Amino acid sequence: MEKDKWMNQAESHILHTYNRYPVVLDHGEGVYLYDMEGKKYLDFAAGIAVQALGYGNVEYNQSLKDQIDKLLHTSNLYYNQPTVEAAEKICAACGMDRVFFTNSGTEAIEGALKTAKKYAYTKDGCTDHEIIAMNHSFHGRSMGALSVTGNAHYRGPFEPLPGIVKFAEFNDLDSVKSLVNDKTCAIIMETIQGEGGIYPAEESFLTGVKQICQERDILLILDEIQCGMGRTGHMFAWQEYGVKPDIMTCAKALGCGVPVGAFVMTEKVAEGSLKPGDHGTTYGGNPFVGAAVSKVFDIFAEQKITEHVKEIGEYLQEQLEQLKSEYDCIAAHRGKGLIQGLELTIPVGEVSTKALKEGLILITAGSNVLRFVPPLVIEKEHVDEMILKLKKVLA
Ligand SMILES: *Cc1c(COP(=O)(O)O)cnc(C)c1O
Repeated sequence: MEKDKWMNQAESHILHTYNRYPVVLDHGEGVYLYDMEGKKYLDFAAGIAVQALGYGNVEYNQSLKDQIDKLLHTSNLYYNQPTVEAAEKICAACGMDRVFFTNSGTEAIEGALKTAKKYAYTKDGCTDHEIIAMNHSFHGRSMGALSVTGNAHYRGPFEPLPGIVKFAEFNDLDSVKSLVNDKTCAIIMETIQGEGGIYPAEESFLTGVKQICQERDILLILDEIQCGMGRTGHMFAWQEYGVKPDIMTCAKALGCGVPVGAFVMTEKVAEGSLKPGDHGTTYGGNPFVGAAVSKVFDIFAEQKITEHVKEIGEYLQEQLEQLKSEYDCIAAHRGKGLIQGLELTIPVGEVSTKALKEGLILITAGSNVLRFVPPLVIEKEHVDEMILKLKKVLA
């Protein structure tokens, strides 16, 4: 079969760091993907929470085509209009002040960590500052991002990792308090842990951590790479809690398919941290990705995406809750908006593989969680279709 040919070629030339699902995807339309044999899949993964607008959005696609014909790349030695517009729209959406564009989420984390270290260094001239991160967190795979990722399996072979990082328990304020000292420069966490198994921060935890940070001028870094960009029904997940970070990281749905991330900070942090020469990137924030980000914010506003997510998210919540009451193999249901998870007592990998056969794309999180991060433009009928297919798989 043609498909096998491509799969075999992939396995002989592409470094084997993923155990891929046996499917060769070809094109997408709306909230559906099609493989090269024409089989149709309902997409409840959105390329890992990236394709918030689904596939084939005419307005988005046209703006990228126009930008390609105008100007793709210039470097950061010059100004360009689309990226300035994109930065303005991010700042307006989060009420923060300064943006640095990156090419990925991992790089946004790197930049956030450097910002925190430079902020502390500017204050006391020391380089021995500590960062507190959370167990079961995920922030990326580079050495710096891995240094704050609380997953022994990902970290093990690459130790020692840079910096002094201590790990607290997510949603356990005392465990954070016990690690804070005069050397702590930042506390980093996801507002909703994604890869770790879809665990939202509890309100008392997030407000408690914020208070510690404010009292001691420690920077709160919230990683919104997966849970941000409307996924919870708020543009950024922290907005529901009213806990504003000092630095926020963003990526995944920020460009809805083009590789772009950002770290965003308050003016106070910007003034006390990175200066010309401290950080840079060749590609980051080029006109092409700038046009994409700018258009994403326009479409989110036009289509009232956050309101739509609130409505559909609630419906998904009800349906998954119902499913949980019907199936013994579902041990827990967590999440909000369109980032939800079902914790299973049966192997989740087998469930997602079988779902694929039924024409449903689902991904996993942690070792035992089925993760639901569909395009934000799904409708109730798609939730119903997903539930129907999932029931077939579970039966
Ligand atoms: C995906 C993810 C990252 C890493 O982003 P990449 O674009 O893969 O580098 C970091 N943090 C969180 C919370 C993520 O979900």
